[in-house]
Amino acid sequence: MIIVMRTGSNRDQVDAVSNRLIELGYKTNPIFGVEKSIVCAIGVPEYDKMEAADQLRSLDGVDDVVFISKPYKFVAKELRGKTVVDVDGVKIGGDEVVMMAGPCTVESEAQLMTTAEAVARGGAKVLRGGAYKPSTSPYSFQGMGLPGLELLKEAGRRFNLKVITEVMHVRKVEEVCEYADILQVGTRNAQNYDLLREVGLSKKPVLLKRGMTARLEEWLLAAEYIASAGNERIILCERGIRTFETHTRNTLDLSSVPALASLTHLPVIVDPSQGTGRRELVPPMSKAAIACGADGLLVEVHPNPDKAIKDGVQSIDIKAYEKLMPELGQVAEAVGRSLGIPVRV
Ligand code: PEP
Ligand code: MN
Repeated sequence: MIIVMRTGSNRDQVDAVSNRLIELGYKTNPIFGVEKSIVCAIGVPEYDKMEAADQLRSLDGVDDVVFISKPYKFVAKELRGKTVVDVDGVKIGGDEVVMMAGPCTVESEAQLMTTAEAVARGGAKVLRGGAYKPSTSPYSFQGMGLPGLELLKEAGRRFNLKVITEVMHVRKVEEVCEYADILQVGTRNAQNYDLLREVGLSKKPVLLKRGMTARLEEWLLAAEYIASAGNERIILCERGIRTFETHTRNTLDLSSVPALASLTHLPVIVDPSQGTGRRELVPPMSKAAIACGADGLLVEVHPNPDKAIKDGVQSIDIKAYEKLMPELGQVAEAVGRSLGIPVRV
């Protein structure tokens, strides 16, 4: 790390910083400039750096402490080129763009089976659906719970789809693992470090949504919690962030997709449903996501969105989904990938 001294800081202050660094185990190299001095420090393992930096910031004459290496290791690009998360044969992060589709929430057997049949026929490889739903209001529907998980597993089996569903609590990880192929950690839990560690211990593939106020570095550090617990089967999912714009539910930050490609080896997918909150924006943003390099999509599809219990405004119906899939196939081909469905020319 580099300790940047304030303009006008004196030699005693620089020496005090150097001495503290040496006590902390660093090798130091102070450089005295005309206006500003800096102290370069190397040689201490990553896990000791944050606390050291906090202490150094409080010393007299210190302006800033700058890290020269990334604070995450397991998820950093330097570790490997690209990770392909293999979910029993469905590969996320490979040449194929993977469609994950289904209702926001499991509502009934009929609703789920109708949707699962349609999304499978259209070329989706993964069925989405919430059994445990995070709700802003404690009075809204909280999901079907265990019966919802049972329906998801049955739908997956019947239509040859992998299943992704959200896990909200450390105590539920074991239960959800029995029914799901991919664990979803939602935006509200994206910095719930106990939960991140627990899904890291589970060894199941984990889809980690971006926290609604998370910077890329915070998001990658959240992923680092999962990876450092022993599970590198992580898929990142951009789902929009909170901004001043109210026209859309969130601002879908598609620039994170190519940006993450240079920061991490993990696959990145996009959720245009939570990302926009408006069903008419889902098809164009799905195309844009594939065009800018997304490894997959997570899209809310409902047989009758106007009557959906949750997120109907941002759910596309089965007809819109059937129209969208071949169009997405063409975009995927145009960027040298495929959606795993026949492409009309
Ligand atoms: C969802 O996928 O339905 C959901 C609740 O997502 P998020 O955590 O991104 O809001
Ligand atoms: Mn939803």
